[in-house]
This record gives sequence, structure tokens and C-alpha cells, in this order.
Amino acid sequence: MHFVIERGIVSHTIRMEDRTFDPNGDITLIMRSHLEDDQTSERTTTTESVIESTPMHVRMLVSSKHLVLASSVFGAMLQGRFNEGQTLRSAGYLELPLPDDDPVAFSILLDVIHGHTRKVPHKYQLQEVVEVFSDGWVQALSREVPASLTADLIHWLCIFWVFGQSDKFKLMTRIMERESGGTIWTEDLPIPPAVLDAIENKRQGVIASAISMLTDLITNYQNSTPRCPRSGDNAFKCDAMVLGALIKSSISIGLWPPPAPPFTGISFCALSGQIHQMKVPTLCDTIGQTEGWYGSRGDYPYYDRGELPAHIGIKESIEASFRSLEDQLCGLDISTFKA
Ligand SMILES: [Zn+2]
Repeated sequence: MHFVIERGIVSHTIRMEDRTFDPNGDITLIMRSHLEDDQTSERTTTTESVIESTPMHVRMLVSSKHLVLASSVFGAMLQGRFNEGQTLRSAGYLELPLPDDDPVAFSILLDVIHGHTRKVPHKYQLQEVVEVFSDGWVQALSREVPASLTADLIHWLCIFWVFGQSDKFKLMTRIMERESGGTIWTEDLPIPPAVLDAIENKRQGVIASAISMLTDLITNYQNSTPRCPRSGDNAFKCDAMVLGALIKSSISIGLWPPPAPPFTGISFCALSGQIHQMKVPTLCDTIGQTEGWYGSRGDYPYYDRGELPAHIGIKESIEASFRSLEDQLCGLDISTFKA
């Protein structure tokens, strides 16, 4: 992208409406507006006798802070040693011509960036915008997509929703499914409630599965039937050790007694990290380490068969279950929500 500073642009009498995106803005973007491109009804009401198709200029007052945050292209231009950045720093104000960008499409993007989300049009009007931006600005923006649940992730989700970017939409919703604790603040952004409901349903679904997996395990160890394959006293001691460890660990991560939906404040990601820290010792581990897995005590039924003991790796199997639950949180398919 190449920009040229152009001073003294002549004001035309008829043009697409100028826009103020930020009243305290420090940059005026100057774009060329072809009348035949101007399709929004609120704008055409002000133009009555239009006969020419000469390009005219649209001025948009924006904040450099927002532009820089939103795009590395603007960041490089306004914060680096380009003329534009130097002018902005010395004068505190800059006029920036963008003659090759579409002002209608650009104004939608600026509305999203500046948080004027009620002005963002609905899907039918967006078709053209999507085409204009498919290889341009949104692609440049995409390099700065968050990798975790940051405060501005919802803005990115909105941009990718509005511009129909299915890969990035899937990525953003995946982060939300995994890292959200159940309260997603949308700031009135035009994201369909069905999208947020789907994220929340998946979050609650896997957390419910994780909890029932743990409670099933605890219930099994409470039964009188021994779980440990050793004989006599050692089986009892070993099972008691596992049961105690499971309950103690579950209490410490807030899963015992088992919480009820909607599991507010519990994110799958945090839960999974806590499970990773969990300790589930067994007597079998201890005996195996001191006497060898096929120990001398003769109370292990697999002793003569030369098999590895079955009663180890309880925590590993819990973690494996968590991994398969995590795989279910793979993000949403945008086509499900676009009619
Ligand atoms: Zn055991």
C-alpha cells in the first residue's frame, strides 16, 4: 500500500456524506466516492439531481489510536519514520488520502473498529463489502488476531463474522469455547445470539462431561468391589488412597461436591490446567517402585504372567479424557449461522 499526502483538496457540493467516527480524531481519511457506488438509502436522500459520475471526496474523521491498534499497515505508517507519521507527531493532525479504497466498505470497517456497531449494516448489504475486503484490509488485520481470550477478541469475532472469514471465525470461537468462563460481553456488537449460545452450550457441555467423568470415577472407588487388582489389605489401602486423592483434588479445584450448570466462572482451559496439576498416588505405584512391578510380595495377580500392572496411570487416563473433550471444542462453522 502506498499513500501520498495531498493538500488542499477541493470540497464538492454533492458527495457521499462525510463521517465523524471519533469527534476527537486526529486523522481525516480522504477517499474517492463514485456516485454509482453510493447505495445506502440514507445517503441518497440528500442527493437529488445527480448526473455526473466523476469521483468526489469523502472525508472521515478517525482516531489514529484505533487505526494503529487495528492494523499493522497503519501502525507502520503512523508510528514509523514515514512522512505521515512525522506529520502526525509534529502537527497533531493528518489528512490521509486513500484513493484506492472503497469508502462505503471502509466506513463499515471503521464503524466496527470504533465500536459504532449499531451502524454496521446487515448481511445483505455486506455482500459487496466482503468482496472488496476479501484480499485486502481484513487480511492485513488478520495478522494481529489474538491467540487467547483478550478483551478485544469479541471485536475480532465481529469483524470475521461481518466479513464472512470462516477460518478466523472458527479460530475466535474456538478460543471462546475453551477459555470463556461463561460471561461473554458483546458490547451490542452485531453478533447473532445463536453464535454466543452455541459457544456457551459447548462450554457447558464439555464441563458437564468432565465433571461426570470425575464423579463416576469417585463413585466407582466408593463401591465395595475392589478396583485394585492386588489381594487383601493392599487392595483396600490402594483404593482408599486413590479415593482420598481424587476427592481431595476435586475439592481443591472446586469440583467436589460436583457443581451444577451453568458452571459460571469455570473455563475448560483453566480446569484442564488444574487437572494437569492433580496428584493421584496409588499404593501400586509405591510398591512397584520399591519392589519392582512384579514385586516379591506375591499379592499381585499378574505376577506370574509378566504383565504390567493395570492399576497405574489413573491420572494419565483422566488427562486423556480431558484431551478428547478438548478436541470437541474446535470452534464454530460460520455457515451454520449464515442463512
Ligand atoms: Zn492398586
